[in-house]
Amino acid sequence: MSAYRGRFAPSATGPLHLGSIFAALLSFLHAKQHHGQWLIRIDDLDEKRCKQSHTDEILHCLSAFGLEPDGAVIYQSSRLTDYADALKTLEHQSILYSCTCSRKSLPKGPYVGNCTHRLGKAFLTDAAIRISTEKLNTHVNDLLLGPQITDNPGDFIVKRKDGLFAYQLACAVDEHIDSITDVIRGVDLLESTPMQCLVSERLGLVSPNYGHFPILIGSDGGKLSKQTSATPVDWRIPGVAYSKLANLLLLKNTPSDRDTASIWLSFFQSVTTPASINAAAGGANTLSV
Ligand code: GLU
Ligand code: ZN
Repeated sequence: MSAYRGRFAPSATGPLHLGSIFAALLSFLHAKQHHGQWLIRIDDLDEKRCKQSHTDEILHCLSAFGLEPDGAVIYQSSRLTDYADALKTLEHQSILYSCTCSRKSLPKGPYVGNCTHRLGKAFLTDAAIRISTEKLNTHVNDLLLGPQITDNPGDFIVKRKDGLFAYQLACAVDEHIDSITDVIRGVDLLESTPMQCLVSERLGLVSPNYGHFPILIGSDGGKLSKQTSATPVDWRIPGVAYSKLANLLLLKNTPSDRDTASIWLSFFQSVTTPASINAAAGGANTLSV
């Protein structure tokens, strides 16, 4: 068993909100409780949506919250050759094909387009690239949720029509390069797990363990997210966001809003367990803010 290495992988698309701090905190605590290392990876492949100013803000904020990584910050944007190499390896297995279907023309749910006849053929320019999911296993043995069965994603995109490497491919390659042993993230990403496992398996890599925790939802019932402009946390007083999270987790005898990030982290470390998180969520996949 290799030494535990976890990570938090925010997209550089906006400032961190309560849900992102929750995700960062839970992956951090899990790593520390396993005497492991914890890394920060900035998911910044999408040049249109990602900005350096967001990255700077995210890193500053994590530091103010006491969430310091055990190594240099990792940037997906510096790994384009690694992703291209991975794509080549998959291409040689004749499990990829060009897809010219427009998003609009496809119904929701697994891919049912007409492009599978291009399997193993040379790629078209100006087309997305999909991977065959014939060998995909929808069973996930989740560290926190136990055995799960996800929906069939259908053949999914590994490189987008606009040339961007897809998250599923990049993420699988990253976990390997960074020797990540445990991925602890929100349950909204559970469906991604079989896809990332398929990519790493096809690349001959060992997949990490995956654990998914409940996500925070707002009063509208939707996930707090950067896209919906959830209120950014105030990095100047981390105790405020930490005490909101402690309340959501039904924790007692908490430090105060004015206490330092390090006091809060020692507190969380001593009382937060997968069981306590599940209990606070009442066994559900969401926690209402
Ligand atoms: N950047 C992705 C997100 O924020 C990565 C998530 C992950 O794999 O932890 O949704
Ligand atoms: Zn297609």
